[in-house]
Amino acid sequence: MSGLPTSHLLPTYARVDLAFERGEGAWLTATNGERYLDFTSGVAVNALGHAHPHLVAAISEQVAKLIHVSNLYRIPEAERLAARLCAASGFADLVFFCNSGAEAMECSIKSARKFHAVSGHPERFRIVTFEGAFHGRTLATLAAGGQKKYLEGFGPVVDGFDQVPFGDLAATKRAVGPATAAILIEPVMGEGGVRVVPNEFLRALRALCDQHGLLLVLDEVQSGMGRTGDLFAYQHTGVQPDIMALAKALGGGFPLGACLATAEAGKGMTAGTHGSTFGGNPLAMAAANAVLDVMLADGFLDRVRRLSLVLKQKLAEIKDRYPSVIAEVRGEGLLVGLRTAVPNGELVDALRAEKVITVAAGDNVVRLLPPLIATDADIAEGVRRLDRACARLAEVLHKQGVAG
Ligand code: PLP
Repeated sequence: MSGLPTSHLLPTYARVDLAFERGEGAWLTATNGERYLDFTSGVAVNALGHAHPHLVAAISEQVAKLIHVSNLYRIPEAERLAARLCAASGFADLVFFCNSGAEAMECSIKSARKFHAVSGHPERFRIVTFEGAFHGRTLATLAAGGQKKYLEGFGPVVDGFDQVPFGDLAATKRAVGPATAAILIEPVMGEGGVRVVPNEFLRALRALCDQHGLLLVLDEVQSGMGRTGDLFAYQHTGVQPDIMALAKALGGGFPLGACLATAEAGKGMTAGTHGSTFGGNPLAMAAANAVLDVMLADGFLDRVRRLSLVLKQKLAEIKDRYPSVIAEVRGEGLLVGLRTAVPNGELVDALRAEKVITVAAGDNVVRLLPPLIATDADIAEGVRRLDRACARLAEVLHKQGVAG
């Protein structure tokens, strides 16, 4: 062995030996010409599917006009997008644009800390977070997520995060102290296994924040932008955050993140306190404005909710048919999780053999994340292929003598 790598990409991903060269709607075409049904959407990114005409036109037009300009100047496209996001959110007054989910979370964390600092309480910098959460791969967001497997070997863990068990209100209350600045939670825990935060728990967190002068920070990087059937997942809970992080589907595939805040929560983030060279560039803004055009059009989110019902009903039938393979169906909208009775990777592989791409999550879950523009026929085809994949796995288990 020469010891030379076969690829010059830093091998931080265990990649499948499969590459795609184009896409259309919910379908991807591999370099070998084979077509795959995309039930991953770039992990909740390509909400409008692939090659959506409105998104393609908006990006193409903007790319020919102006790709980038410094944030030292006004960017009208960014001002327009920020105003639209604030109006749609129903709570936010201010937006900071960046390029990824982790950056959106960094800005959220910094805003929460700075809020207390400029309110005369610099000692209040700690943030309560939940076990199993995922907030990104920067040093601070790793500390917020608190997952040992991701933190190991990267030196001292950034201080300021107090983790409590998911859904444990008593532990959350115990974790709040004089140094607490905020509570941070994903309304639907994505990477952690598509665990939906019950409305009453979110309401209890809001009440706890109000009682102690804490900020409620929602990480909607994965759950936001229509994925749950509302533009933002908190919108059906009766709870509003003070700060929210967005990314993934915001640019429809173009890299973009955003941190939204109320005027009060964002009051510490004055000139010079934060920045991003690329954040809010005209090209990214054109992409996101085009995504919003589609998502805010009449009936779009209703359709996502309807597709979700259809999908979940079919999934419940499949679960009943193959209890040795699928243990539970959960999720919200088109952020759906199948907790498997087999190792989740086996179902991901079996689905890929059926030419459907899905993605694993924690808690032995397989995530189904079709693009929000998937047709009824796409969903039906995905279900048919899932049925075949489950049948094959159940057959193997049967031969091995496992009931099912
Ligand atoms: N927050 C949540 C809820 C996520 O799901 C992710 C990514 O999966 C992130 C933050 C980090 O986003 P990014 O990978 O764009 O930095």
